[in-house]
Amino acid sequence: MSDAKIPLAGVIGNPISHSRSPLLHNHWLRTYGIAGHYIPMHVESDDLERVIRTLPQAGFVGANVTIPYKEAVMKIADQVTDRATLMGAANTLIFRADGTILADNTDGYGFITNLAQSAPDWQPASGPAVVFGAGGACRAVIASLLEADVPEILLTNRTRDRAEQLQQDFGPKVRVVDWIQAANIVEEGKLVVNTTSLGMVGKSRLRIPLDGLRSDALVTDLIYTPLKTDLLATAEEMGCTTVDGLGMLLHQAVPGFERWFGQRPEVDEAARAAALA
Ligand code: NAP
Repeated sequence: MSDAKIPLAGVIGNPISHSRSPLLHNHWLRTYGIAGHYIPMHVESDDLERVIRTLPQAGFVGANVTIPYKEAVMKIADQVTDRATLMGAANTLIFRADGTILADNTDGYGFITNLAQSAPDWQPASGPAVVFGAGGACRAVIASLLEADVPEILLTNRTRDRAEQLQQDFGPKVRVVDWIQAANIVEEGKLVVNTTSLGMVGKSRLRIPLDGLRSDALVTDLIYTPLKTDLLATAEEMGCTTVDGLGMLLHQAVPGFERWFGQRPEVDEAARAAALA
């Protein structure tokens, strides 16, 4: 038997049992015949730095990071990519051969690549995007939309200050609109994105009236439990193209898997089915 090191990776969070990442990465490891493992790691906050520093010595080549540690790991890493700095959070760690740790954020890549794959006719430059919410995931959405050349982003959030902070960070292409006015801007969106947690299983409904939705709009939701949120169901009834949030989760995993295991994985029906298992 060979004594070559088996590459290990995993996802760090608290709680972690809900994470779909182990199902997805282990599906890819099996698909490509890679002798590696990917495990969920429930870590307490007091142990976070020690655990992360120990993982490379135990054969780990990297890790994903989820709630509540996406910000904390930025201080632990030796180097942070520009896009993670811009987003103020990291979801992917790379343990390099020289012992240093690189923190990256692939959520924006996952978001925009999901739209490109699932709605190939959508032209980012064709019109404004309307974005609901201004939390952590929204930063990644805004950064990737601006990079893709969306001309304007109309941003609305229950807590206006958070939206204004994003406007300050991302500049004049972001226009903040009061939450109470959200229904009035829906008609301006060639793209409409829900980045709030409203509509998720166990949470309240997204109550923004959608009568103004244009039938040529692309509508997407970051939520993937349920897969078809009320927003997506309504948009579909109104003739819009819709894209669910599972694809973002799958695509954000691609760069990490490729860096750790040396194979660029496919986001296809089999990967979707594995993540939903
Ligand atoms: P977060 O930082 O906690 O932000 C939550 C957002 O939802 C904020 O804009 C918040 O508004 C809003 N919100 C929550 N409860 C609300 C309510 N009752 N009324 C109005 N607005 C409310 O969370 P996040 O990390 O950005 O994640 C947001 C969602 O995206 C979650 O459902 C998460 O699962 C999903 N997500 C999906 C992916 C994917 O790969 N598909 C990746 C990341 C996140 P306030 O600022 O006013 O509190």
